[in-house]
Amino acid sequence: MSALQIPNITLKNGVRSGGDPVEIPQLGLGVFLVEPGETERIVSEALEVGYRHIDTAAAYFNEAEVGRAIASSGIPRDELFITTKLWNSDHEDVAGAFQRSLDALGLDRVDLYLVHWPVPMHGTALAAWRGVAETAESGRASAIGVSNFEIEHLQQIIDETGVVPAANQIELHPLHQRRELRAFCAEHGIAIEAWGPLAQGKSDLFERSAILDAASAHGKSGAQVVLRWHVQRGTIVFPKTMRRERMIENADIFDFELSEAEMAAIDALDEQRNFGPDPYTFDNR
Ligand code: NAD
Repeated sequence: MSALQIPNITLKNGVRSGGDPVEIPQLGLGVFLVEPGETERIVSEALEVGYRHIDTAAAYFNEAEVGRAIASSGIPRDELFITTKLWNSDHEDVAGAFQRSLDALGLDRVDLYLVHWPVPMHGTALAAWRGVAETAESGRASAIGVSNFEIEHLQQIIDETGVVPAANQIELHPLHQRRELRAFCAEHGIAIEAWGPLAQGKSDLFERSAILDAASAHGKSGAQVVLRWHVQRGTIVFPKTMRRERMIENADIFDFELSEAEMAAIDALDEQRNFGPDPYTFDNR
């Protein structure tokens, strides 16, 4: 099974035992809301198609199926990039939760381990970050980061620990562009991962003229234009799809370039409109 030609991004704040920089394929497959019964097939298909980067989480309840697909693929571990996430109820038991994720995945390390949400009303994010930093020191997480952290949440963990996350995984798409948060992350060398890069298929994004015009100019689909806009801005993406033809389509975005004018037209679509939960109030444990 050969890999797709997907560029890597170097995680500036990543740590790998031995000190080598951690490289993440800029495009992967996300498996949020993929039923456990379907996940093994879908991840196996993605690996066959040439994906090497899979984004899962303890809270997706499909780590074991992701692990089975990895094992049966026969792809050498070092050629894969696997991300999983610490759930909100486990902020004060990181060691236990991390081991449960490794056991489910059937792996002895992950490439990126993220604190899934800050749940600021519980005041546990700092303990979670300290615990996650210990997993990195043990060498079992090559890089560590956070998800859904706003500037003040990032500032707190950086100030208190001096450990800067390698990545922040946030809801990000043309209708919700998070300019201030992205600027803060850029200033601190924190890579941005977009979740919901296609606005979760919940909007009329693909019908907007900025997308339609670029799609027809380049002979690409609306999804490909939106994903290309992300990668041209240096963002890491892992659009979810359960369909093989869309896996191929979504990865076929490295053979064209959006012009400055096309990028600007998509930049102008920002409505600061989120489709997922608000990190300040999301309290699901
Ligand atoms: P997404 O933006 O990737 O949208 C997925 C939907 O887009 C699909 O269900 C499908 O309807 C549509 N789609 C996919 N490819 C398409 C194509 N080529 N043409 C037309 N429509 C297409 O949303 P997502 O799944 O929520 O986000 C991607 C990944 O991000 C998730 O699977 C998960 O790994 C991660 N995520 C993380 C968090 C977090 O809190 N950290 C939250 C949500 C998602």
